[in-house]
Amino acid sequence: QHAKVNKRDYQIYDANIDKNSIERFQLINELKVAIEQNQLVLYYQPKLNLAKQKITHVEALVRWDHPARGIIPPDTFIPIAEKTMQMDALTRWVITEAMAQYHRWQLLGIDMCIAVNISAENLKDEQFCHWVINALAEHHVPVAAMTLEITEDAVVSDPELAIKQLTLLRNNGLTLSIDDYGTGYSSLAQLKQLPVDELKIDKSFVQKLLENQADQIIVQSTLQLAHNLGLKVVAEGIEDKVTLEWLTDLNCEMGQGFYLSRPLPERQFNDWLTQSDYQ
Ligand code: C2E
Ligand code: MG
Ligand code: MG
Ligand code: MG
Repeated sequence: QHAKVNKRDYQIYDANIDKNSIERFQLINELKVAIEQNQLVLYYQPKLNLAKQKITHVEALVRWDHPARGIIPPDTFIPIAEKTMQMDALTRWVITEAMAQYHRWQLLGIDMCIAVNISAENLKDEQFCHWVINALAEHHVPVAAMTLEITEDAVVSDPELAIKQLTLLRNNGLTLSIDDYGTGYSSLAQLKQLPVDELKIDKSFVQKLLENQADQIIVQSTLQLAHNLGLKVVAEGIEDKVTLEWLTDLNCEMGQGFYLSRPLPERQFNDWLTQSDYQ
């Protein structure tokens, strides 16, 4: 919080660090309870099909509705879940909730494909992809309605195992997407080997696209590269109309960002969709 830390202030500064680590410790213990007691909640952000101007896809983004602290963003507790072996339980909760949401939308006559985020920890677990495939079958959710978003880094630590798992998922009909593309350390050689369908350009290249010529070149080249490799492209972090139009003109398949909508809880999302021009 302090822009500058004077020597005089060091005690206050230390106290803050201490407070943060106590808070972190409490969150670790509370997270297990949170997953068990349904304190997690999914927010939904639309992914607009740019050619059709229709919402056919959403990304599910988890939040923790903490009884005392209110809504906690994922960047605060996902890293904790990863370090404390809770990622399996968390991702299973997310997918189970997404499947239930799929059916709630079906009942409203809304045909929606849902994307969920998968962590590196999940790809290290041999059981995980079998669980996903069985869960979809058991809950009568078509595999084509589910996209898994994976960051490049999730593949880097053990590429062989990751590729094996991704291949199994994809052979079973799930859509796979590389998230935050451009921010990781994977090489083009690795990217070429990945059995994926879609590439999401990281928001850091999209947010200030209009003011930044380097970003324009990166996005344009990425679109070309992806299309030549047979991949569809999603641009995340669209914050204005002109950027949306620019991407539409370049045949980017899908767009996502605050300009369209922030991630919203179920009811607000449904209201937004009803009054939007994209149904
Ligand atoms: P992500 O998967 O790359 O999701 C996109 C993030 O960018 C979301 O943040 C979204 O709210 C934000 N965003 C979307 N459009 C814009 C925009 O126009 N401007 C700006 N400034 N931001 C935008 P969120 O919901 O806080 O999630 C952060 C990250 O937490 C996600 O990044 C993802 O890596 C992780 N995460 C969220 N939910 C889950 C989950 O269920 N499981 C796992 N493993 N990770 C998750
Ligand atoms: Mg994502
Ligand atoms: Mg992303
Ligand atoms: Mg991200």
